[in-house]
Amino acid sequence: MGDCVFCKIVEGGIPSEILYSDDRVIAFRDIEPQAPVHFLVVPRRHVESAFHLREGDGELLARMFDAAQKVCAELGVERSGVRILTNVGPDAGQVVMHFHLHVLGGRTMGWPPG
Ligand code: 5GP
Ligand code: ZN
Repeated sequence: MGDCVFCKIVEGGIPSEILYSDDRVIAFRDIEPQAPVHFLVVPRRHVESAFHLREGDGELLARMFDAAQKVCAELGVERSGVRILTNVGPDAGQVVMHFHLHVLGGRTMGWPPG
């Protein structure tokens, strides 16, 4: 999709540290990690945000969470716990307009988020 950074990562046009990849989903480390473990899970298909998911995307979402869990297991944070979130729109701070899950772990996290 045009100049979407995550579409470029999906296509291999921008290098990233890929942690998981299948026919629907990829996961890669965030370039500006906010925790010892911080990776992103994105659909290969360009979807602008969680609010742009369609009926029928349930399996895609399940696949994204499954990918997140697999990577967490590999990185040793499945049992210690992680925070999984998705930013939607400007007030939440969504910068890249390609739907992604942030997966953060390796440290305790405060609540509520700032
Ligand atoms: P958002 O604020 O849209 O929820 O999060 C976008 C995330 O993508 C940010 O945490 C940012 O550090 C990350 N990011 C932006 N550009 C790149 C990139 O080119 N490579 C990687 N690996 N992460 C990126
Ligand atoms: Zn995209």
